[in-house]
Amino acid sequence: MANSVPASLRPFNTFGVEATCNELISFNDEESIQSWLKAEKPALDSLFILGGGSNLLLLGHIPLTFLQASIQVINYMEQQAGDDVLVTVGAGVNWHQLVLDSLNKGYSGLENLSLIPGNVGAAPIQNIGAYGVELKDRFVSLRAVELASGDVREFSAQDCQFGYRDSIFKRALKGRYVITQVTLRLNKHSQPHIEYGPLKQMLADETAITAKQVSDAVIAIRQSKLPDPAQLGNAGSFFKNPVVTEEQFQTLHDAFPELVAYPVGDKHYKLAAGWLIEKAGLKGYREGDAGVHDRQALVLVNYGQASGDDILRVAKRVRDKVLELFGVNLEPEVWIIGKQQIFPS
Ligand SMILES: Cc1cc2nc3c(=O)[nH]c(=O)nc-3n(C[C@H](O)[C@H](O)[C@H](O)COP(=O)(O)OP(=O)(O)OC[C@H]3O[C@@H](n4cnc5c(N)ncnc54)[C@H](O)[C@@H]3O)c2cc1C
Repeated sequence: MANSVPASLRPFNTFGVEATCNELISFNDEESIQSWLKAEKPALDSLFILGGGSNLLLLGHIPLTFLQASIQVINYMEQQAGDDVLVTVGAGVNWHQLVLDSLNKGYSGLENLSLIPGNVGAAPIQNIGAYGVELKDRFVSLRAVELASGDVREFSAQDCQFGYRDSIFKRALKGRYVITQVTLRLNKHSQPHIEYGPLKQMLADETAITAKQVSDAVIAIRQSKLPDPAQLGNAGSFFKNPVVTEEQFQTLHDAFPELVAYPVGDKHYKLAAGWLIEKAGLKGYREGDAGVHDRQALVLVNYGQASGDDILRVAKRVRDKVLELFGVNLEPEVWIIGKQQIFPS
């Protein structure tokens, strides 16, 4: 266990904004999280769980204790019968390192989720997804420590109530558990998912497509489309793609025939938030060092010295303009953490 009062949280968030907290405590195993909680009995509202900081907007001084589960274990278990391999991974393992490690071992299943920043422990929180695959498609179970009691609980996929960028940990159990370990199902033989448009095009000429090829293609597409946080501070998609009713979709489609939308479930449509923002004329919009990326309108960026509040101001401008023009409310995908939460997450 390592305790510190970091002078700056800038290295701990991919927006690269300046922020501070009361204390940061890093744990290398589940038992030390349990014993610390049982000994200290901290108030729940005095804690925040930090992963890799790639889905956060931090606002100035945050008067909380940040806890980090830095558990670094990867264990593969090939199943005797069939094609399955179970992998159990510590919460502190970098997600993309896990993807590469599993591919190097010859196992497939995570290739579409290549290059998503952040740690394994955060992956179930919003059911990370990309290029037609979501964590839930590979998820078996997770272990988590309850902050209030220090007790360990195991969660099945059903317990997690996964949805689009959603799980029970964003709703009923928000801020109640620290995830320590995740178990996923991989395959010994490749079963590629390349239905997603750009991926299909890129691999169109290949015959026997390997998981490594899919991963390389995903990495190439992502690098061409998304700014690298190491070069330009950002937290990926700032807003979720809004889901509207068929009626709302029809009204919008009549007014904007070029509207980008996909049918989801029964009588609902998912709108491309990036398209709405671009159509609102805000692609490349900038206020000082905070702005909307000039190639990817769904991504807000820190051009250098923007504060969390500067970025939040731009986010509000985007949300208000989209609401005014289309009557659609954009909700943040990013967690906004400060003295108070301004957007619902
Ligand atoms: C360039 C870029 C591209 C991205 N692309 C995608 C994408 O394609 N798909 C996608 O789904 N996401 C994407 N994201 C968002 C981000 O990568 C994911 O949300 C990721 O899972 C966040 O992981 P993290 O460790 O950085 O979590 P953090 O940002 O540190 O935390 C996010 C949330 O998870 C909670 N949390 C973190 N660790 C734990 C834990 N161990 N136990 C309990 N709660 C915890 C935090 O309290 C917070 O609420 C992208 C981000 C960037 C910067």
